[in-house]
Amino acid sequence: MTREIKNLGQAARYGMFVRVGCRKCDKVATFTATDLAAVLGHGRTLPSLTFRCRDCNSIDCEVMPYEDDRDRVNKKRVIWRPVKE
Ligand SMILES: [Zn+2]
Repeated sequence: MTREIKNLGQAARYGMFVRVGCRKCDKVATFTATDLAAVLGHGRTLPSLTFRCRDCNSIDCEVMPYEDDRDRVNKKRVIWRPVKE
């Protein structure tokens, strides 16, 4: 099932997750769209998001929104800090 998600507010309403992968060191982190919307604003579009890798400090990251109910009970979520512009 693919939905067209225009911004974080929409993704948060659908209860989606955003997986962020570092292109440099392949570290992967997962956020809830709700968390991101609270920090960055509900109107932010997904392609405009910028993340800084906690391991290698690179901001060359891939953003992949997805839906997966199983992740709701996964407590091993890696939290990255969003980059403020
Ligand atoms: Zn990295």
